[in-house]
Amino acid sequence: MMAEELIPLERALEHLLSAALPLEETESVLIAQALGRVLASDLTVSADVPPADNSAVDGYALCCTDLASGMALPVSARVTAGQHPAPLKPGTAARIFTGASLPPGADAVVMQENVTITPEGIRAPDETAPAQNIRRRGQDLEAGSPALAKGTRLRPQEMGLIASLGLDRVPVYRKLRVAVLTTGDELVDPGQPLLPGQIYNTNASTLRGLLAQMSCDLVVCETVRDTRKDTADALKKAAKQADLIVTSGGVSVGEEDHIRAVLEANGELTLWRLAIKPGKPLAFGQLDGTPLLGLPGNPAAVLVAFLMVGVPYLRRRQGDLTSPALGERLPAAFTVATPSVRQEFMRARKQRLNNEDVVTVYPNQSSGVLSSACWANGLAVIPANTTVTPGASITFFGFHELTG
Ligand code: AMP
Ligand code: MG
Repeated sequence: MMAEELIPLERALEHLLSAALPLEETESVLIAQALGRVLASDLTVSADVPPADNSAVDGYALCCTDLASGMALPVSARVTAGQHPAPLKPGTAARIFTGASLPPGADAVVMQENVTITPEGIRAPDETAPAQNIRRRGQDLEAGSPALAKGTRLRPQEMGLIASLGLDRVPVYRKLRVAVLTTGDELVDPGQPLLPGQIYNTNASTLRGLLAQMSCDLVVCETVRDTRKDTADALKKAAKQADLIVTSGGVSVGEEDHIRAVLEANGELTLWRLAIKPGKPLAFGQLDGTPLLGLPGNPAAVLVAFLMVGVPYLRRRQGDLTSPALGERLPAAFTVATPSVRQEFMRARKQRLNNEDVVTVYPNQSSGVLSSACWANGLAVIPANTTVTPGASITFFGFHELTG
């Protein structure tokens, strides 16, 4: 591999995704634990949802042909949600409430606001028509039809849908076990005093959050000293416990950067240095059969590289078949005067200016400035060798879209 060769993101992703073997083991979890998990088999609707025709409003259930005579309809029954109503007496109406099952024999519900109450009974508008204000049995889900497909990542709405099927548990892929190793002699855990020369370990916390968003199990989270031996020992230990090792730092060309050397000596380095900004010093390989994603050290680069490279890879390993984030095309409200040879992911904000959605970028895009990402709500993509002037159409990825 030539020292100067930088791999375009697309090619790197192709390589990573082809190497990403999806999990096979599944488990059954309670709905309460299902958020963010990936469905491991298709779910079929076992019974109609809703299970019976019911009223969409508070009002009166009646049979439309009974209105033809022009007579008021006496109210013969009162049906509330949760009851199993008796058939409607011909020539009468039933008081009914939202969600209550429709009495057999009724074919319409008239909203209470549209009814005139007389001593003889209720009068409904002439235009009352069959099926009015009725939620049909099976209108949400019909028995025998597909409910959710294998490979769906479960959001709150899917949790609710599963409950509406009557299931209390669902089959999901087991969680991916991830080891996070942050490298650097300068790192100190937050909560400890900072001595001269030291900095707080930022990346461990960012990665903790990102992995939680991706529903991974963090099985190891350690700081590794900058020696060849410490690095090799920590990687070997992590390889035994994890399905994936994620490292930060120590992946450049400096003498204190050992990740790459350990991979080359004890495992395999299959990818190194990406044509992205930030995130160039990125490595991928394996050690003792456990894949390793070597992220850069700079905090903003960790976030960008994880979102753009790590997330698609994790999704594939998790069996998540939902389509990847597409981003959206929006006008830039900023300038990039000097083109970069690398595709750039700027910490950016989609916002409304003068009644138009536009993208602005944080003034300091240094890979060490994590506050850029806290200010931002997503990433603006600047293709390699491209300048940007205000109004130019660019791709924007919202953070929610990337991890959601
Ligand atoms: P490296 O690739 O190890 O040379 O790291 C690049 C830069 O990122 C250096 O300035 C490191 O001090 C910084 N860095 C590395 N790891 C972390 C971390 N876990 N938290 C905060 N900064 C880090
Ligand atoms: Mg370092």
